[in-house]
Amino acid sequence: MPRPRKKRKICNPPLMKGFRPFGLPGCKNGYVTLSFEEYESIRMINYLDMQQEDAAREMGISRPTFTRLYNKALKQIAGSFVEGKTIVFDGGDYNLTDEWYRCRKCYKLIKGIENHTRCDNCNSYNINELIKIN
Ligand SMILES: [Zn+2]
Repeated sequence: MPRPRKKRKICNPPLMKGFRPFGLPGCKNGYVTLSFEEYESIRMINYLDMQQEDAAREMGISRPTFTRLYNKALKQIAGSFVEGKTIVFDGGDYNLTDEWYRCRKCYKLIKGIENHTRCDNCNSYNINELIKIN
């Protein structure tokens, strides 16, 4: 029986659902999917300038596993750039370190729900508008 895969720890979900290329008529080149863990690996290495060793520790995975994840993320992004594909952030095997919600109306990300009776971006007062992310 295969060993159950350990869930990766993620501090920040992506702000948006994905990226779309522009300047292409119709935009029918398909899409690539970046899992939340792959997104997180790019955020830690290329945005926060972390070392892979530290990033792996923060996600609660081994360095070789992290490197595989990170390389896959780069490959997906390269595929998107070269072939003009949309990038969709979706799926993965992770636990978020905090509770995150997304406003259903304007898609703004909101950390924790306790102080949020409304979305401070679009002023939606309907708390049911907030979708819990995992
Ligand atoms: Zn909103």
